[in-house]
Formats: sequence, C-alpha cells, structure tokens
Amino acid sequence: MPIATVNPATGELVEEFPSLTKEQVDQRLTRAEAAAASLRATDFDTRARWMRAAANLVEAEAASTARMLTTEMGKPIAQARTEVLKCAHAMRFYADNAETLLADQPLADPSAVNASAAYTSYEPLGVVLAVMPWNYPMWQVIRFAAPALMAGNVGLLKHASNVPQSALYLDTLFERAGFPAGSFQSLLIGATDVEAVLRDRRVAAVTLTGSEPAGRSIAAVAGSEVKKVVLELGGSDPFVVLPSADVRAAARTAVTARTINNGQSCIAAKRFIVHAEVYEEFVEAFVAGTKALTIGDPLDEATEIGPIATESGWRELGELVDDAVAKGAVLRCGGSAVGTEGWFFEPAVLEEVTTEMRVYREEAFGPLAVVHRVDDIEQAAALANDTPFGLSSSVWTTDPVEERFLITRLQAGAVFVNGMSVSYPELPFGGVKDSGIGRELAAEGIREFCNLKTIWKS
Ligand code: NDP
Repeated sequence: MPIATVNPATGELVEEFPSLTKEQVDQRLTRAEAAAASLRATDFDTRARWMRAAANLVEAEAASTARMLTTEMGKPIAQARTEVLKCAHAMRFYADNAETLLADQPLADPSAVNASAAYTSYEPLGVVLAVMPWNYPMWQVIRFAAPALMAGNVGLLKHASNVPQSALYLDTLFERAGFPAGSFQSLLIGATDVEAVLRDRRVAAVTLTGSEPAGRSIAAVAGSEVKKVVLELGGSDPFVVLPSADVRAAARTAVTARTINNGQSCIAAKRFIVHAEVYEEFVEAFVAGTKALTIGDPLDEATEIGPIATESGWRELGELVDDAVAKGAVLRCGGSAVGTEGWFFEPAVLEEVTTEMRVYREEAFGPLAVVHRVDDIEQAAALANDTPFGLSSSVWTTDPVEERFLITRLQAGAVFVNGMSVSYPELPFGGVKDSGIGRELAAEGIREFCNLKTIWKS
C-alpha cells in the first residue's frame, strides 16, 4: 500500500510520500532513545507547560488541520474541527491531571510488610510505538500521545498509510511546543516494516488501534519480545431499545451513533436490538432519520455524510449489503453508491438479518445499520453478546431493574445508558473479547505504559 493522500471524495491522488529507509528509521530510533532519557529527567510542571503549548498550537491551527483531515479521509469538515478541538481538550486534561493520576501511593499500614514505609510509584517505560488508524487521524494519536508524554514516555507513530499528512503534522507538533527533539516522531513506513521496529531493543512497548488481524499480528510480535502491548480493535456495538425508553430520542440518537464519522468508528452503534413492542415505531423513525441525512462534499459545512475513506472499505460495505440481501435480508434504505466519483455510500438500514449473513458477525465499517427484533430483555442481552467483539454498548430504558440487568449482563468495555458511546479523556476506554487488551484514557490509560515500581523501606 503506497503512503499517499488520496482524496476519497474524488478518488484523486493528492500526494505520495516515500517510505523511510532502514537508515532513516534507525536514526529516528536513536533520537527517540535520547529523548526518552531527557524526558524522563523532566518534572510534571515542565511537561505540562509544553503540553499546554501544544494544545494552543492545535487550537490555533484547527481550521487548516480540519481541512487536512477531511481531504485525507473524507469526514465532514464540521466533525473534523470537533475532532481537532477534542484533542486540545485532552491535552489540557493530561497537562492538568497527570501528576495526580501518577502520584505515589503509600501503603496505609507498612508494618503489615515489616517496613517503616512502603509505596508504589509510576515511572515511564521509555519509547512506545503507536500503530494508528485513519478514522480519527488526530484523536486516535493524541489519546495515546498526551498521556504517554505526560508520563515521561516518548512516542513513535506508525500512522495508517492513507493519512501521511496527518502523520507529518503530528511529527513536528510536540517539538514545536517545546518538548525535547525526538519526543514524538512519525515513521512513514508500511505495515510490513513495523515488526522490525517493534523488535528493536530501543522500543519498550506498543499500542495499536485498528483491525483485529493487525492487532493479533502486533500482539504476537510483542509477546515474543516480552513487550507491553495495548490493543484497541474493532467493535460491533449493540444499541438496545426497550419499551420503557423514549423511543423517539433513541431513534434520533441511533442515526448519529451509526453514521458519525461516515459510520467509520469502532464505538459506533452497529446492531440495533429493539423490543417488539416498540420495534415499528423505532424503525420508522430510524429509517426516516437516516434517509434525511445530507450526503455530499465533505468540505461543505452542511454535509453530514461524506465518502468512505478507502475504495476497499467502500467495496466491502457494498459486499456486506449484497450478501445479506441475497440471503433474505430486507434493505429499508440506502446501500448503493452515490455519484460517479469518489467513494460515497448511501447510509443503509437492514432488517431480517440472520446468522448466516456476513453482516451478522462482521464489523460494518461504514454507515450500514442492522436492526433486530427481540421479545424480551433476556433475548436482547443474548443477541447483544452474540458477537466476537466487546467494545462498547448503548442501552435505552427508564426502568432501573432493566438498566442494572443490562449493565451487568453485557460483555463490553462500556455501557452508555440513554446515550450514545463517546470517548472522553476522563473515562477509561477499551474492550473485551476480540475488541482488545488494556485501556486507553483516564488513570488506567496513562498507567498502561508505566513501570509500577514497589518501594519498601526497612
Ligand atoms: P488496519 O488494522 O489494517 O490498519 C490500522 C493500522 O495498522 C495502520 O497503521 C496499518 O498500516 C497498520 N497495520 C495493518 N496491518 C498491520 C500489521 N500486520 N502489522 C503492523 N501494522 C499493521 O485497518 P484498516 O485501515 O485496513 O481497516 C480495516 C478494518 O479495521 C476496518 O474495517 C475496521 O474493522 C478496523 N478498524 C478499526 C479501527 C478502530 O478504531 N478500532 C480503526 C480503523 C480500522 P497501513 O495503513 O500501512 O496498512
């Protein structure tokens, strides 16, 4: 796969970038190792000052950065701006809170371990390799980088090959804000070059956000090197609607939850599991809301649905629809290509989906929704869990007993009650089952790439 910006709205090659040579990668690893030594010696206040300066740059440059994101992967420009500003917020959150999140933790009763004092402290691991996807080209990277750098780690980014301009922007961002040279660098390399970097002795750990096959491959290499790994993989999140819910509000939110970012989000609601009593009401409103979305040029402020980021992703969506319809699913709206250029796909809603259809089990990475009818809450939970994934979930009910039942029963890293799944710097983010290992964000996220050191004093 060439390292190139191809505008998904037109299919045109904007710019291609050469892959780094082995020597160039080696130089960057050497710089990273040196930066790890100097960053480790800095205090929280200094790093926080640099991090706030980086947040200021991100905010000041939001308009041009948003345009770059939209050109590289097709998200509507208003959503691109929101993504950029969310990054600045997360950077300030870690600037303000890293010291508290990583404070030493004393043992309340050191005499229990025959000590005069005992405590734990968090120390940086060193150079962390981040393999990142194209769907949120800024946010996915910043949600790793902001906590990692605040903890005193150094980042090496292998970004997706279709967002090289985003990678190059991030390559200079932290250095421009004052961080030591080499604290955060991009490696313009292909996926096949990642293994050698991960095996390099100068790299301490790895994090990957992306597909399950990529995650398995990275985890196998990290395992053989005994290096820490965090994986944030796909999801096929359930969105459960029960009769006690505000069904109109659920349907309105369902449209956004399925189609935000042109439907290309790991925590997008993908399977809508609706109680028979409110099924028709929900589906009518959901289909009407989906049909009403404005599809078009992602640089137009009014656009709600832009193109799919890659031609292969666009083809894949069409194939999922064709496979389901051929096997008896009912297509309530959309499902076709739009226009003659670029990779536009009309948001689709499928009903009557059965287990032999690919879309029942596979993650639909685009605006393609599946609606299931269930007769009771037990059936809803069983269907919600009948997936290899377990990232997030959304449940709609006003009954506290139903709410508790679903919170405890759903196999997922998060449950959002009467709202859609969203990632916040303040809350841990990650999944179970094939959705990954470990957590990003919040205290758990910043601690993933730390050496939790135990100190015992006689
Ligand atoms: P990939 O997992 O292929 O790409 C994500 C990142 O991993 C990219 O930087 C990619 O590099 C790299 N990569 C891919 N394979 C390997 C490997 N074997 N070793 C090391 N690095 C690797 O995602 P795609 O873009 O191909 O999307 C395919 C599917 O992945 C989607 O349909 C969706 O299911 C899932 N996905 C999930 C995301 C999430 O947020 N959880 C985000 C994006 C995708 P390169 O670009 O050079 O191939």
